[in-house]
Amino acid sequence: MEQVGRKTFDEVMVPSYNPAEMVPVRGLGSKVWDQQGREYIDLAGGIAVTLLGHCHPRLVAALDDQAHRLWHTSNVVTTEPALRLARQLVAATFAERVFFCNSGAEANEAAFKLARRRGHVAFGPHKHQIIAFKDAFHGRTLFTVSVGGQPKYTQGFEPLPGGITHLPFNDLAAVERAISDDSCAVVVEPVQGEGGIVPAEREFLAGLRTLCDRHKALLIYDEVQIGMGRSGSLYAYMHYGVTPDVLTSAKGLGGGFPIGAMLTTAEVAQYLPFGTHGSTYGGNPLACAVAEAVLDTVNDRELLAGVADRSRRLKEGLEAIGRRHGVFEPARGLGLLIGAPMAPAWKGRAKDLMTLGFKHGVWCLVAGPDVLRLAPSLIIPEADLHEGLRRLEAACGELVAEGARAAA
Ligand SMILES: *Cc1c(COP(=O)(O)O)cnc(C)c1O
Repeated sequence: MEQVGRKTFDEVMVPSYNPAEMVPVRGLGSKVWDQQGREYIDLAGGIAVTLLGHCHPRLVAALDDQAHRLWHTSNVVTTEPALRLARQLVAATFAERVFFCNSGAEANEAAFKLARRRGHVAFGPHKHQIIAFKDAFHGRTLFTVSVGGQPKYTQGFEPLPGGITHLPFNDLAAVERAISDDSCAVVVEPVQGEGGIVPAEREFLAGLRTLCDRHKALLIYDEVQIGMGRSGSLYAYMHYGVTPDVLTSAKGLGGGFPIGAMLTTAEVAQYLPFGTHGSTYGGNPLACAVAEAVLDTVNDRELLAGVADRSRRLKEGLEAIGRRHGVFEPARGLGLLIGAPMAPAWKGRAKDLMTLGFKHGVWCLVAGPDVLRLAPSLIIPEADLHEGLRRLEAACGELVAEGARAAA
């Protein structure tokens, strides 16, 4: 095989990413090894995706088994893995109907199109306003990026789809002022992920529920990042005790195999009748077989209790590092989606810390310029968690030492 490395990226790839120097070639559990054989503790989880770590034996077995049966059919027919997964999702959640696709953006695209179509058909074309929140992230298709609340992702892509209102997150009074009978949906991440790991307040979600009911708008939860056990509940709506009409799931759902799903009620689902929406790959048997094994494994009392336990350890570890090095403010987040905001003196340096982390053998993420984000496997072993924090502390030490040198 031809020799390739990080340098090759700049020669053959569209420059929309700027990947790290290290190129991973193998993963097992919460460890990853690069081309040079260097080991990294994975606290990033492929951006909250590999929620059972790398090469989990149950997922490998499910994929291998399905790989020898049937790979792809299209939706001209249905398949057993898709039907089984849908049945399990319906049994485990508020949902009565499921639509499968291949990513978080596609799941949200389906949800927004469903909300629009329901508005048109059941009430009339005036009912099309979508209320969304500043700093929200819902994907990178033109519709989802427009509903998202981060202008840097839409600049240069105009004209954008209209009828979308962006309001401050956790500000119920603002929603009360903006919502009307022309609103078809309110879409919210129960924990804003890309926007800096900011949990919604329970009263905020409960208030959105009431306002949506009053104005016959759909309440849509984007649980692409926080869903599938990461919150410590199977879905975060269960943690909050406020149920949406539509929920989108992806990332962790496939544990590393691409799949997305939109969950809803039978009543709402009727607004996407035959021919109104679709996807060639949606419900792909390989993806559904893996996701079935993920759901089977994650929807387990003991595993979910372990998430809360690891969450506490990780937050305590981050706070101890913050106390010793002064780089972090108190950690925030829910379950194993954790943000460590950079202290005022280190604002804008989260990416630099992440890069130093790679140097010290730990793989972290950022959520914007000011927040270090951790989204490890839900079953990360205690020893790896401990070692990951030790390496992160070494990276913090180097960041502080560099800062001191620069100031001298
Ligand atoms: C990652 C993410 C998406 C987009 O998912 P893709 O699979 O990248 O399309 C949407 N919403 C949230 C909350 C996300 O974190």
